[in-house]
Amino acid sequence: MSAHPTSPSSSAPAEPTKPSNFLRQIIESDLAAGTYAQRQWAGSPGDAAHQATGQPDPAKIRTRFPPEPNGYLHIGHAKSICLNFGLARDFGGVCHLRFDDTNPEKEDEEYVKAIIDTVKWLGFDWNGAPDAPAYEASSYFDFMYRAAEYLVTAGHAYVDEQTVEQMRLNRGDFGKPGTDSPFRARTPDENLARFREMRDGQHEDGSMVLRAKIDMASPNINLRDPAIYRIRRATHHRTGDKWCIYPMYTFAHPIEDALEQITHSICTLEFEDQRPFYDWLLARLCEGGLLASPPPRQYEFARLNLTYVVTSKRKLAQLVYDHKVSGWDDPRMPTIVGLRRRGYTPEAIHLFAERIGVTKSDSWIDYSTLEGCLRETLDHSAPRAMAVLDPVKLVLTNWDAVMGANVLDACSAPVHPHLPELGKRRFQIGKEVWIERGDYEETPPKGFFRLFPGNKVRLKYGHVITCTGAVKDANDRVTEVHAELIPDTKSGTPGADSVKVKGVITWVSVADGLQAEVRMYDRLFIDAQPDAGGKDFIESLNPNSLKVVQAIVEPSLAAAKADDKFQFERHGYFVADRVDHQARKMVFNLAVGLKDSWGK
Ligand code: ATP
Ligand code: MG
Repeated sequence: MSAHPTSPSSSAPAEPTKPSNFLRQIIESDLAAGTYAQRQWAGSPGDAAHQATGQPDPAKIRTRFPPEPNGYLHIGHAKSICLNFGLARDFGGVCHLRFDDTNPEKEDEEYVKAIIDTVKWLGFDWNGAPDAPAYEASSYFDFMYRAAEYLVTAGHAYVDEQTVEQMRLNRGDFGKPGTDSPFRARTPDENLARFREMRDGQHEDGSMVLRAKIDMASPNINLRDPAIYRIRRATHHRTGDKWCIYPMYTFAHPIEDALEQITHSICTLEFEDQRPFYDWLLARLCEGGLLASPPPRQYEFARLNLTYVVTSKRKLAQLVYDHKVSGWDDPRMPTIVGLRRRGYTPEAIHLFAERIGVTKSDSWIDYSTLEGCLRETLDHSAPRAMAVLDPVKLVLTNWDAVMGANVLDACSAPVHPHLPELGKRRFQIGKEVWIERGDYEETPPKGFFRLFPGNKVRLKYGHVITCTGAVKDANDRVTEVHAELIPDTKSGTPGADSVKVKGVITWVSVADGLQAEVRMYDRLFIDAQPDAGGKDFIESLNPNSLKVVQAIVEPSLAAAKADDKFQFERHGYFVADRVDHQARKMVFNLAVGLKDSWGK
């Protein structure tokens, strides 16, 4: 997947092949109507006066992806990233990466760096240039404070000293209007003095809040005088101890969008009820001349709900801190770093985002849809290799007589069956080869065509052999399978097909096979909706989600580098682990099986 510049200079026309969705239709009609054509952009975020010094905005639209840096991004965020950056790319716009870091307590620089890496890895850049710094909501604290003072002086906000409990009781509920706070009738001057005292640290945490003054009887509870600033003595990872008051998310977010001249602010459905406040706040601040018009508009889409995973940073953090997984990048995690380590490519994730589409109603996407995208993308690119995951030795008892003692016979196979330009893999066959333990049965079940006494099979890319039996240990466990080679049946030689077989098995010879650790991953949860309805998701962790096996792999894999993906024939797609794989100690992760076999 190559990088898609979102720079307006590249103003690519909308790709006609993209399936439309309600957001694309909204943008198309805004562009046709010239809704945002008059906007100015001074080259950086800022208030109305700042933007007025700028040029007509070269970006036709501005979208944003605003993660809170309190964890690693997951597959749900990928949906939002592909959507927001994709719309900007397709409509000649720009998408802003903005850290929504207005909550001082839970945020960390480690996450900031990881989020930047993830967005880049998915193939996007932001703010119109590669390596442009991301925007940070905390850099707008001064403006947010100014906006709050403006609301106070204009009579649109007041300091409320009710207790949290009183405020909750007085808010009413769906069937009952709220009750005005006794502090609601304060004058703007009194409120301003009190608000400044809050800022100056003269009041205890939680002793009072600044509230917007809207309508305590509104049918939308979010309009019943929502809190917009609270007192919180906490050190912020960016602004340190400069502030002891912090804006509430619902106040901060519309302002961040407006300062950045965002046109289409796309969020998940749970914010639908916040939209009236979003519009109210920006209308007041535009009216007061603080923000440029027209203000951004919010649109909601259905979040991604994916079966067999949890997509909440808090819950993912719990898995990490309780050591249920090896870290944020554990290959079983639905984090982007986890998916990457599992073998997912940006191409597979883009395909997934496109395939699930964008809708306005919540639904569940089956995990196999994600796996299908990976399988499809790897199928047309991944080199093939043979690997024996549960090895038992097969001895060709007539080898010395037919081929000669200590003789090795060269075999080859295409690197990829449909990409001849990738050339051939080479390996050797000798008297002893490793085969899968499951490929031998003393008494074959019906329909079993592989090794059992008297049956003929082909060693893939090698010869046809006739099974003669097996050697077992005291515990009745097979230690060696025996067979005889049928001369002149080697694949690719004249007459090779003269002996017909029903079974073909994969193998790696003892002479040139290499040891490798293979990590067989399965779903992290056994429950399709591990956290639905408030269930404790820890209880449905799959106890068998990781099985480590010592495998023998063909010699071509000696050249595998971390992150390289392969199809192990018959087994599935595997990736050389980006953390632990080394040339001298190979480690492969199961990315996805060849077929969707879950539950079958
Ligand atoms: P979490 O609960 O995992 O912390 P969040 O929504 O609080 O999720 P943010 O960092 O605030 O996480 O999200 C950044 C953006 O990603 C938001 O615009 C949000 O709408 C979007 N997003 C988060 N989760 C999903 C999801 N499951 N599907 C689609 N978009 C999502
Ligand atoms: Mg959040």
